[in-house]
Amino acid sequence: MGLDVAWAERWVRRTAERIAEAKGELTELDRQIGDGDHGENLHRGFQAVVAKLDESGGAERTEVGDVLMVVATTLMSKVGGASGPLYGTAFLRAAKRSARREVDGSGVVVLLEAALEGVTSRGKAEVGEKTMVDALAPAVEAATAASDAGQDPAGVLRAAAEAAEAGAEATVPLVATKGRASYLGERSAGHMDPGSRSSAIILRAAADTAQDVTGTTAP
Ligand code: ADP
Ligand code: MG
Repeated sequence: MGLDVAWAERWVRRTAERIAEAKGELTELDRQIGDGDHGENLHRGFQAVVAKLDESGGAERTEVGDVLMVVATTLMSKVGGASGPLYGTAFLRAAKRSARREVDGSGVVVLLEAALEGVTSRGKAEVGEKTMVDALAPAVEAATAASDAGQDPAGVLRAAAEAAEAGAEATVPLVATKGRASYLGERSAGHMDPGSRSSAIILRAAADTAQDVTGTTAP
């Protein structure tokens, strides 16, 4: 079973809830190697996204990309800092590649690849620079492998979320060479990158929601 616009909307709403819950954690991570605003930035952004979804009726959204486009434009206009334009571009690219009523497992891979391309084209970070790319790149890799192995979309997203969570953990020993944390040089080591953590939260929300709507049970 494919993932449709109802999945997309539930995913985004769940992301807003999870970011609200994780606001303190993200703020604390960003306080250690940045300026402490990542939790507040994303919380404000996703609350604005939910308000936008509430005020514009769901009836006019028929394709997965319609919802992702609301996320993209809202994050770009409401979220300051590095992460607003980065996530905005990620959702924009993903929206353009999901202008369809349903996405299957390989469609999920296309969507995630587009999101990663959006982040790297905008931020120019490569794997290992201690940014959200360190969560998103392994997520794309794991999603591709899961899709190639014939997993359904919920399974593909679960693989992506797991890889992103591991990727975020793996940023702890890294020295940041992109973003605000790079100003700290060697002192950025020993802390998890906040953006990689928020990327993992967003993907976990996508996977959990896919599991709910498709009724797939975890292995
Ligand atoms: P700011 O750093 O401007 O305060 P945020 O705190 O909202 O913005 O976001 C910080 C996160 O943005 C970092 O943890 C990192 O994951 C991500 N980030 C910063 N610069 C880049 C970049 N060039 N490429 C990818 N991600 C980046
Ligand atoms: Mg910050």
